[in-house]
Amino acid sequence: MTPTRRQFLIIAGISAAGVVCPSVARLMASRFESPAAAGLKAKRWAMAVDASKCRPDCTECYRACHSVHNVPDIGNPKEEVKWIWAERFDHVFRAESHAHIPEVVRTRPVPILCNHCDNPPCVRVCPTGATFRRPDGIVMMDSHRCIGCKICLAACPYGARSINFRNPRPFIAKLNADFPTRSKGVIEKCNFCEERLAKGILPACVMACQEKALVFGDVEDPHSEVRQLLDRKFTIRRRAELGTKPQVYYIL
Ligand code: SF4
Ligand code: SF4
Repeated sequence: MTPTRRQFLIIAGISAAGVVCPSVARLMASRFESPAAAGLKAKRWAMAVDASKCRPDCTECYRACHSVHNVPDIGNPKEEVKWIWAERFDHVFRAESHAHIPEVVRTRPVPILCNHCDNPPCVRVCPTGATFRRPDGIVMMDSHRCIGCKICLAACPYGARSINFRNPRPFIAKLNADFPTRSKGVIEKCNFCEERLAKGILPACVMACQEKALVFGDVEDPHSEVRQLLDRKFTIRRRAELGTKPQVYYIL
């Protein structure tokens, strides 16, 4: 849906003032709320990550995600852009780690990504509505509305957002023409492959994982694979005590 001239002026005016009222935020979000008829739909998308299945040297899910989403490889850790990556268990789950956890678990690589929080602080603080939560739970980024103020970067307690310190396009190894590129100064992060869900395809990371460590689906559907896994196994979420209600669940 293309905004009318009046709608555009309202959005531009309010964005310039640094605030977005709920009705305008809804108007902006509505452009993204209508998945294709043939697409996969859910009441609430969620992911379960069984890190015990992850091989220490495996990069399949990261490579698949970054390749389909034109994520640049800048080659400088200080300017790194990432949607999904791995860190050691004792870095990801600091509060849960202790001296008597087996070495194999403590040093295990754990895939991490945006948690598509039910109560996302990034969305609350964004002054332009560039980041917003869809009714199915996906926390979206509209890079055209992002002014690069980095408030969301500071608000996300998971480090799930990256900013493009420079033009990312020269750093994309192989361009995927079906997905947009970003520009200098805008934020990016995992989008739960909303563009693939709209075409009826599961997220790239889920499909790339040979070990079936990543399970994705509708957590509100009692028959979905992800829900059945959560009903069966003990899972934890990253820093759930913050009240953000993360929707990526971990088996360790
Ligand atoms: S993990 Fe961070 S970026 Fe993702 S929804 Fe939660 S607060 Fe926002
Ligand atoms: S940097 Fe973050 S908070 Fe600022 S406009 Fe962009 S998405 Fe919104």
